[in-house]
Amino acid sequence: MKIYLNGKLVSREQAQISVFDHGLLYGDGVFEGIRAYHGRVFKLREHLDRLANSAQAILLTIPLTKEELEAAIIETLQANSLKDAYVRVIVTRGVGDLGLDPQKCLRPSIVIIADRIALYPEEYYSHGLEVITATTKRNLPEAINPCIKSLNYLNNILAKIEASRANVPEAILLNKDGYVAECTGDNLFLVRGGVGGGLEETTLVTPPTSVGVLEGITRATVMDLAKTRLKLLVKEEPFTVYHVYTAAEVFLTGTAAEVIPVVKVDGRRIGEGKPGKVTHRLIKEFRELTRLTGVPIRGGT
Ligand code: PMP
Repeated sequence: MKIYLNGKLVSREQAQISVFDHGLLYGDGVFEGIRAYHGRVFKLREHLDRLANSAQAILLTIPLTKEELEAAIIETLQANSLKDAYVRVIVTRGVGDLGLDPQKCLRPSIVIIADRIALYPEEYYSHGLEVITATTKRNLPEAINPCIKSLNYLNNILAKIEASRANVPEAILLNKDGYVAECTGDNLFLVRGGVGGGLEETTLVTPPTSVGVLEGITRATVMDLAKTRLKLLVKEEPFTVYHVYTAAEVFLTGTAAEVIPVVKVDGRRIGEGKPGKVTHRLIKEFRELTRLTGVPIRGGT
């Protein structure tokens, strides 16, 4: 395996970061998780834009342009002969001293890891997930805005531990006012109405970023597919767990998960207790899109 580290492709063993890197000492840095499908990098520009925004929000200057970062990602995929992959791009504040001051860090560290994707079990898609509501609240947007994809994921990890202890794969985080935010690594959607009937009265609802969620790239893609392909009404509006419990369908979206149905929340059956038809159609549309679009890993393919 070849890993990109500060401008060089090195072996896994050589890919080492200083213990004085503030990414390690303080979680001071930003990252992206990106997918390549069938030799194309999916939504690469959107991921690079979000990385740039995350970096800007924490006053971190990435020492590469978006074009250079794109070339580095493609080069890393090529070096590992990967066509279907998960790519992790990490930019840390860099090596400093034991104090917090980021000004002591002279140069950000850039790491790109491209690996085979550890796919979620197929039964998650066919049978759906069970999730719980975590007691851990989502970070306050006024403290650390969840729109920043930072290296500090303790908020999410604490909720993930709650999920594991309840023997379920995911947990829903609420914000401090009790509105549903998102899951530990995925955005959340509800489908309202439309059970058994046509799709005309069906509405897709997801929390607005103002409640404190990551502005997911899969979220945006699914909102677009729902509007253009399924002709659904799509709303970004705050809601509580009441609306989750009473939804016709619930699903999660994320780069790794894609679109994944949720059939039980806090022990309560959602809708008919099996993946719904809107979720099924969105899974299909999303998978089709991943086949058709993206930046080629090798020119012209
Ligand atoms: N929310 C959180 C907290 C995440 O970490 C992620 C990414 N894993 C998402 C949502 C989904 O975002 P995307 O669709 O861009 O992967």
